[in-house]
Amino acid sequence: MSDQQTESRRKFLTGSAAIAGATALGANINTATAQEPRYVLDVPPVISMEINGTSDLFPVNRVYCLGRNYAAHAIESGDDPTQTPPFFFIKPRDAVVPASEGHPYPQATSELRYEAEMVVALKSGGTNIDPADALNHVYAYGISLDMTREDLQHVAQELSRPWAISKSFDKSAPVGPLSTVEDNGHAVDGRIWLSVNGEVKQDSDLALQRWSVSEGIAILSQYYELRAGDIILTGTPEGIGLVNKGDVIKVGIESLGEIEVEIT
Ligand code: MN
Repeated sequence: MSDQQTESRRKFLTGSAAIAGATALGANINTATAQEPRYVLDVPPVISMEINGTSDLFPVNRVYCLGRNYAAHAIESGDDPTQTPPFFFIKPRDAVVPASEGHPYPQATSELRYEAEMVVALKSGGTNIDPADALNHVYAYGISLDMTREDLQHVAQELSRPWAISKSFDKSAPVGPLSTVEDNGHAVDGRIWLSVNGEVKQDSDLALQRWSVSEGIAILSQYYELRAGDIILTGTPEGIGLVNKGDVIKVGIESLGEIEVEIT
């Protein structure tokens, strides 16, 4: 692209952003014009999440995840929560899929692990966000699973390698529909639980998160510029375990409802 073309593209994008900014979130904005660039491949699809009570969709930008955000899970994972804080990792945005589609048992593993998590969806962002202001950036909350290829994670941990391959695989984040803050308020406490084939395996409370949603947003924004559309999986409580084909996982969060995911 020439400098002139780049400049023209930048102006176009700025114009689109201005239009989007002036319109309610979720509105369908057609920005196709004669200036639209011709991509050499099909443009990747927009990844989105359903929203309870509306046919509007939440477009997903980045997918951040918190690790070891509940003390009892940190301990079961071999960490000392008094010594090591929670941490972040990332999944690709197209790891996000509707829970209702089920979760195909992934390739390259024989140890597939469930992790029940609350997901936070941002309507705005920034850097170095004040914890006291952080909840003002939240659009909605939802229920998700952070599926993990545990055998690959153990290999990565033993070799001190990045564990992306164990966490960031295709369809590794089944999600339910979002509940907006406007309709449902902020989900800062309440029971979070998970069952496999009807047997409860995880049973905790959002209030036991080591980094609250406010703190998680504030700390994450010290490392990344957060943006509208970003989502944060806020970590799993204790009781993680493995599932097999045919198992049915249910995850519930008080105030947000339940999702059901079949391993197919
Ligand atoms: Mn997790």
